[in-house]
Amino acid sequence: MSTSPVENVVIVGTGCAGLTAAIYTGRANLKPLVIEGSLPGGQLTTTSEVENFPGFPQGIDGFQLMTNLREQATKFGTRFEQAFVTSVDFTAMPRRIVCSDRTILAKSVIIATGASPRMTGIPGEKELYGGKGVTTCATCDGAFYRKMDVAVIGGGDSAAEEALFLTRFASRVYLVHRRDALRASKIMAERATTHEKITCVWDSVPVAVEGVDAGAVSGLRIKNVKTGVESTLAVKGVFVAIGHMPNTAPFAAALDVDENGYFKPAAGSQVRTKVPGVYVAGDCADHVYRQAITAAGMGCAAAIEAERWLAEHGA
Ligand code: NAP
Repeated sequence: MSTSPVENVVIVGTGCAGLTAAIYTGRANLKPLVIEGSLPGGQLTTTSEVENFPGFPQGIDGFQLMTNLREQATKFGTRFEQAFVTSVDFTAMPRRIVCSDRTILAKSVIIATGASPRMTGIPGEKELYGGKGVTTCATCDGAFYRKMDVAVIGGGDSAAEEALFLTRFASRVYLVHRRDALRASKIMAERATTHEKITCVWDSVPVAVEGVDAGAVSGLRIKNVKTGVESTLAVKGVFVAIGHMPNTAPFAAALDVDENGYFKPAAGSQVRTKVPGVYVAGDCADHVYRQAITAAGMGCAAAIEAERWLAEHGA
């Protein structure tokens, strides 16, 4: 298997965090190499309109935003290579990033691999995802459902938070949970279950998202697991909030991760890890905010850290 010359900085991931890190390290003349995986541009490329990224008062298409970031990174000397990272060896210098077809060597590494929303896999979900009524982000898409009925699937903190956020816009929010008690923290559960606009639909699993033929969500078919009875909630939006899976597996043996697989940064930092010169940024290290702008901010912080570290240790 081939190895590369030693790179100054390798950035793994092409979402907001990775591309912002590329812009900053590029402008620092470090000639960053960005490794892109199976979803170039990350989660935002699956969103239609982004209305909350500062600087775009008219909103911006998610794909366009990522195209812009990529162009900006390229302008400052970023190189992009497609590769699938399988493991890493951070025990010695240079750091080794093992990909399926080659090994990449780097003095510093910024990991910005994001997180993938967990999906239910029910019929209609995939077909109507992204701009057609099925979404995984109330903060991103909630405002499109003014005065409409919507459903949130899930019973954790995310589902409770999404449901509460949606009450600002939607007429009614059905919170569909497969058990009869929320997993969410007590305070979030209480807020959600007592909100006048939220109707909890207990003991119910989603069966299908309806509206595929029309190309827009027209309902959520659910089944009560205790009675076996199926019914349809006439909703225009379905928010899937059953958790995220951080894309950290190839790095988990080399760095600290929490019980859900998210990177645990070193004490006192959002982006430093226990390995000198190795940084994390974006949703792979953040299960709380998970916004494009916070990921970009972490990417910027990681880039500045890498730049300083390289200056001290010889770029
Ligand atoms: P989570 O806690 O893992 O909850 C996932 C929910 O989805 C559970 O209620 C689960 O049901 C349900 N679920 C899972 N698979 C399902 C399926 N196939 N069909 C239907 N329902 C399914 O995930 P999360 O809510 O994203 O939270 C992840 C972590 O982030 C947690 O530690 C949470 O506390 C934290 N978080 C914190 C905040 C905050 O503090 N404001 C906000 C968001 C997230 P069961 O309950 O039956 O397992």
